[in-house]
Amino acid sequence: MRDVSVLEILRHPFDTSGFPPRWHCGAWSAELGWLHIASDVAIWLAYMAIPAVLLYYTARRPHVPFRGVLFLFATFVLACGTVHLIEATIFWWPAYRFSGLLKFATAIVSWATMLALIPTVPYALGLRTPQEFERELVERRAMERALRESEAQYRELFENANDIVYLHDLQGRFTAANKAAIQATGYSRLELLGMTVDELVAPEYRALAREMTAKKLLGQAGSSYELTICTKDGHRRLFDVHSRLVTRDGAPVGVQGIARDVTEREEAAKSLRESEARFRGLLESAPDAMIIIDQHGLIKIVNSQVERMFGYGRDDLLGQPVEKLLDESLHGAYATYRDQFAADPRARPMGSGVEVHARRRDGSQLPVEISLSPFLTDDGLVVTAAVRDVTEQHEARELLAQQAEDYARSNAELEQFAYVASHDLQEPLRMVASYCQLLQRRYKGKLDADADDFINFAVDGARRMQVLINDLLTYSRAGRRDLALAETDCEQVLSDVMSNLQTAIEEREAVITHDPLPTVMADRGQLTQVLQNLVANAIKFSKCRPKVHIASERIDDEWRIAVRDHGIGIAPEYAERIFEIFKRLHGWGEYPGTGIGLAVCKKLVERHGGRIWVESTPEQGSTFFFTLPAC
Ligand code: ADP
Repeated sequence: MRDVSVLEILRHPFDTSGFPPRWHCGAWSAELGWLHIASDVAIWLAYMAIPAVLLYYTARRPHVPFRGVLFLFATFVLACGTVHLIEATIFWWPAYRFSGLLKFATAIVSWATMLALIPTVPYALGLRTPQEFERELVERRAMERALRESEAQYRELFENANDIVYLHDLQGRFTAANKAAIQATGYSRLELLGMTVDELVAPEYRALAREMTAKKLLGQAGSSYELTICTKDGHRRLFDVHSRLVTRDGAPVGVQGIARDVTEREEAAKSLRESEARFRGLLESAPDAMIIIDQHGLIKIVNSQVERMFGYGRDDLLGQPVEKLLDESLHGAYATYRDQFAADPRARPMGSGVEVHARRRDGSQLPVEISLSPFLTDDGLVVTAAVRDVTEQHEARELLAQQAEDYARSNAELEQFAYVASHDLQEPLRMVASYCQLLQRRYKGKLDADADDFINFAVDGARRMQVLINDLLTYSRAGRRDLALAETDCEQVLSDVMSNLQTAIEEREAVITHDPLPTVMADRGQLTQVLQNLVANAIKFSKCRPKVHIASERIDDEWRIAVRDHGIGIAPEYAERIFEIFKRLHGWGEYPGTGIGLAVCKKLVERHGGRIWVESTPEQGSTFFFTLPAC
């Protein structure tokens, strides 16, 4: 063995003295030798390729972590490879000094690489495995797909929203606008995206729009407000806007907003307000107190007439039950009435025919007439009550009733007087008449001619007065006797009348005809009196050979009897007056009578609940009609 120091080795690393080529050391067969050589060369080539790949990788990925370790690793591989190359050359070139130095250097680099690798272990452990990486990749792709889909959905939502959705930058320039915005403004998307908020909103709203953006810049959350915009075709439309600030990394970058076209709603609200005002005006101009009551019977609206009439303030009444304005005695009746009304809501007066008493604030009552009209609203059935103070009518009615009572009483007293007078006058009158007749009989032709005339006048006057008194008695009796109502056959009544008037009929050669006559509900005696008066008049007021026809007609639940003649007739202006007592159209000499007959007929017919009237043409005849209840 030679003594060679490390210094000597370092000074002459390629000195091969003292060593034969490896072929000459030991019994190398050619195969074994070439196996080593070929394998070492192959390893060297592979070890050369690895650093080249690593260098290429680090060049392409400049940010790859642990670049130093990679370089160290590449050096280590390079050194290992060179060791193998030297191992192959040693078969011919025995550079054992250089080979030893190279192996030493390789050992140092190997340890340095190993030491540098240690801190990378935790990081390397944290790295995903290829499977994990694969799974993550799949998940990420799915996520990306979902993201794309949801983005598409959001875009669709944005695009097809009924409301306008828009974005604008801090200068107010629109950066996005959906289809609704295009439709509402009339501008194309391109036009809209070049415009600013100021250009779109109506001039008087620009300050507000700017203020809103400024407020948002101050960091306020979203705000809602109304804006009017001018559309491309020059129309104005009102929008309900809600907008808020868009920030990126905490810094404001723009504004996003949603706007709804409320022009129609606003116009409807305006016309509602106007019609409400008109309705109020109408309500106030109504002469009556007007109360609007909801379906629960609570007062919703009153006009000022209500305040005046009832003495309440408007606030005392609104929301109160309407019973507050009614007398307590009517509360129960009102509830029933309200139920009936709800079941059949037609306009009608409340309590027509009955007196309704309302109550004022001070508790006093006032007679009123109430007309109710229902109308259907979104809140249900609402009733308008028009309340009219009928104090005056009420007083007038009371006065009228009082007068009617007074009139009836004085009439009764008058009738009583007429009856008593005519009854009591009969006796002395009979005495006067019979003594006058006695004088006439005993002294006729014995005194002078004047005396005969005077006595004749006295006899005639007494006779006429007797007739008058008798008729007066008949008239006063007509209202006094009880009505004996029974089913009465008019044919029989007429036959009684004919026999009572037989003399007159024969004398005047009158022809009396009639239709089949009905059975009516009447007092037979009084009906005979009525028919007899009318037939007698028909004969009396006909010039020659009177023709009288009695007809009948059923109208609803009464019979109408008509007595028709072809006599002298009556002028229209007297058609009513002839039914008054003592009313005559002719002198005693022309047509005898006292003017009582028709007055008696009227009284008797009216006592039966009927009416009597005449239709006549002078010189052509008259028809007297009267009605009686059917059986
Ligand atoms: P009187 O027959 O006693 O005069 P009435 O009361 O019966 O009294 O009739 C009143 C008046 O009505 C008569 O005087 C006559 O002028 C008129 N009058 C009544 N009936 C007829 C008639 N059928 N035709 C024409 N005038 C009539």
